[in-house]
Amino acid sequence: MTKDFNYFNTLLVQSVGSKTGPIAPTIIPSAAYGYADAQEAEGIFAGEVNLPLYARVGNPTNAKLESIVAKMEGGVGAIATASGMGAISMVTTAFLKAGDEVLCIGGFFGGTYTLINETMRRFGIGNSFCEVDDFLQIEETLKLGIKMVIMESVGNPSLRLPDIKRIAELCNTYETLLMVDNTATPLLMQPLALGADIVVHSSTKNMSGHSASLGGVAVFRAVQEESDKLHHKKYADLHKIVNKMGKKAFIPICKKRAIRDMGMTANAFGAFLTMLGLETLALRMERVNDSVAKIAKILDEKLPDGVSVNHPSLTSSMDHERYMKDYAQGCGPLLTLDCGTKEKAFTLLNALQMVIQTANIGDNRTLALHMASTIYSDFDEETRKSLGVHEGLIRVSIGLEDPEVIAEDFLQAAAAL
Ligand SMILES: *Cc1c(COP(=O)(O)O)cnc(C)c1O
Repeated sequence: MTKDFNYFNTLLVQSVGSKTGPIAPTIIPSAAYGYADAQEAEGIFAGEVNLPLYARVGNPTNAKLESIVAKMEGGVGAIATASGMGAISMVTTAFLKAGDEVLCIGGFFGGTYTLINETMRRFGIGNSFCEVDDFLQIEETLKLGIKMVIMESVGNPSLRLPDIKRIAELCNTYETLLMVDNTATPLLMQPLALGADIVVHSSTKNMSGHSASLGGVAVFRAVQEESDKLHHKKYADLHKIVNKMGKKAFIPICKKRAIRDMGMTANAFGAFLTMLGLETLALRMERVNDSVAKIAKILDEKLPDGVSVNHPSLTSSMDHERYMKDYAQGCGPLLTLDCGTKEKAFTLLNALQMVIQTANIGDNRTLALHMASTIYSDFDEETRKSLGVHEGLIRVSIGLEDPEVIAEDFLQAAAAL
């Protein structure tokens, strides 16, 4: 069956609900779980008995969310975390160690950028950055034997669209792990099917949708019995777990090397709220992707000189061709406006009557934010430029409202310039 919105509408409502007993997911807030006897305790700790051990390493409500997101992404398993940054920190701390190098492709969410470029550096993990289409540089860097490649399915806020399949093929050739942040494109992109090893999401965004629950999730592919890249000598410190746990080894690697010691675990109530969001995710993604293209088109035609709109659905976008070819169902809720200067961006934002100014994206309501003075205010000019953050850039995340009403709000605000 093709994985269109119809497929996901059926999958998601049917897997979030239960057919018998309570239909809605059950919230199990207990931090600790009683073991039937000493033998059962031993089995649970050895990972041989599948029962809850202690809520830091997993709980039944999280487990339900994890199984649904794993199905949704076509993975063998998933781990729910306290936030999107929790998911990214879990994966990076589980797989990387001092002396390793990572390659970051394209623009990045501010938190991911500082995690890699400040925090991980403090712990001795080096990095380099390159443009989404610089395949020569990507291959040269992979040849040097780096440990992990990190990218976003849609650059936030650069809106660059990577060729995930081609990059995944290069990572496979050079036996290097690829982690894709799929926050902007749940259901729209399936990075694991395209060859990625790990997908992460900030479920705070579209997945939950209501700005009511901070959360994250990482999803993993199955480990192959032979010739898996995890058997490569550069992953030698993982071989013991991979040999023992086989197909599902990504999960104990993250649990034993990050979750257990750092505790970025999701809580049951947050996981419950995320599941409520998942029930309507396909409906909302279809609506939002339709609206964002409509609004981009109206703004492209009607904005006054001095303000421009960027969205890959527009022929003026650098990645229009890739959008048409690889992002057939859309590329998520974002578009950007370039007002030229900070002053003009502030004037436009303050003249909006309906759109909310906030740092979130993927909400049911339309949100907007000036980038350089907020999320990227700590960054120097050159870094901002490399991340696609111009002085007058406003990031907009389209919600569920009538697209014409939202376009009109931007047009009346732009008239104030
Ligand atoms: C918001 C966001 C994150 C971080 O998620 P939190 O849930 O806020 O920790 C990571 N990546 C992308 C692309 C995001 O938009």
